[in-house]
Amino acid sequence: MNEPFLPFTRPSFDEETLAGVLDVFRSGWITSGPRVAELEAALVSRLGHDRRVLCFAHATGALEESLRTIGVGPGDEVIVPAMTFAASANVVLRVGATPVFVDVDLASRNLTPAAVAAAVTPRTRAVMPVHFAGLPVALEALQAVARRHHLVVVEDAAHAIGARYRGREIGSFGDLVCFSFHANKNMTTIEGAAISLPAGRVDWADRLERLRFHGLRKADDGSYDVELAAGKHNLSDVAARVGLGQLKRLDAFNRRRRELAGYYFARLESNPWGLVLPEWGDEGHAWHMLTVLVPFETLGFGRRELQERMRSHGIGTGMHYPALPPLTLYRALCDWHPGRFPNAERIGRETVTLPLFPAMTEGDVDRVCRALGQILGGGGA
Ligand SMILES: *Cc1c(COP(=O)(O)O)cnc(C)c1O
Repeated sequence: MNEPFLPFTRPSFDEETLAGVLDVFRSGWITSGPRVAELEAALVSRLGHDRRVLCFAHATGALEESLRTIGVGPGDEVIVPAMTFAASANVVLRVGATPVFVDVDLASRNLTPAAVAAAVTPRTRAVMPVHFAGLPVALEALQAVARRHHLVVVEDAAHAIGARYRGREIGSFGDLVCFSFHANKNMTTIEGAAISLPAGRVDWADRLERLRFHGLRKADDGSYDVELAAGKHNLSDVAARVGLGQLKRLDAFNRRRRELAGYYFARLESNPWGLVLPEWGDEGHAWHMLTVLVPFETLGFGRRELQERMRSHGIGTGMHYPALPPLTLYRALCDWHPGRFPNAERIGRETVTLPLFPAMTEGDVDRVCRALGQILGGGGA
């Protein structure tokens, strides 16, 4: 095995960005300052001047403070998908509210507006859709449900920077849309995030700004007052400079992701091993990840073994995500029993994330499919 190891994801940085980062260091100002303002402005240019964008240190904090901003707290419920990263449910608990899980669709891996409508109670305050792997949820129908029940839609758009729903970019509309710029996401600031909200919601923006930085409210004379025991979630200028270089390349990154996903589909769509591919979607899909379902029950070995065998072929894989309701923290909350969230639970048991990142070649995709073929069924794909 002399081919280099192929991880399931890897960020791409160009020399211009790295030189720009050095310039930030040399400027003497490395934490939140002009580069953060520039990244926020660049995101507004992209998403629309009727939007306001606030950068955060991570999407986990952005989601949590978004919930706080709209007043979600003890006694309230927030609807979240049963298959997502733990952060989506934890932030609800962290503000003292209760996450209410709904099953996801097996093909899109997204929550459905019908499931959300069925889960609404008098305590429901918000719904937190996740655009899983960059495939937008059915936002129009979801927003109709939200309007009907006076819910705020806090989008966990951690996978969805650059994604489009019916031609409109995610974050260019909607209540509170939280992007993650974690190292594994479609663009990165190493760690980081941004919230997009309507420019007209100055009340939300004002509260978010204070929640982002110690609750401070600055006065014109340079003094400040503190009204909230807030935390600290500001992004650094070094990180923002990385993000500015990434944002310029985002569309090219996402186009390349889509090409590679298409190549995987051509190789795997009619596979003989019972692999279930996700929904292809339309050109708005950001292809943050390619996750396939593997029929381990009939295969005679488990995910751990598949992943180890892939690794012995020099290929990294991921697992996104286990269903949340069976996990210790959430089990009691939703009175979970096996089969309660059949799609999320099946995905959790069977999902494997294959390598997908812009610097990959079609030869890399071939290599992954060949290795899968050898491991799953002897023959090649
Ligand atoms: C990555 C991720 C988050 C958290 O993002 P951070 O920036 O790492 O805090 C939240 N939700 C989902 C679905 C994610 O994938």
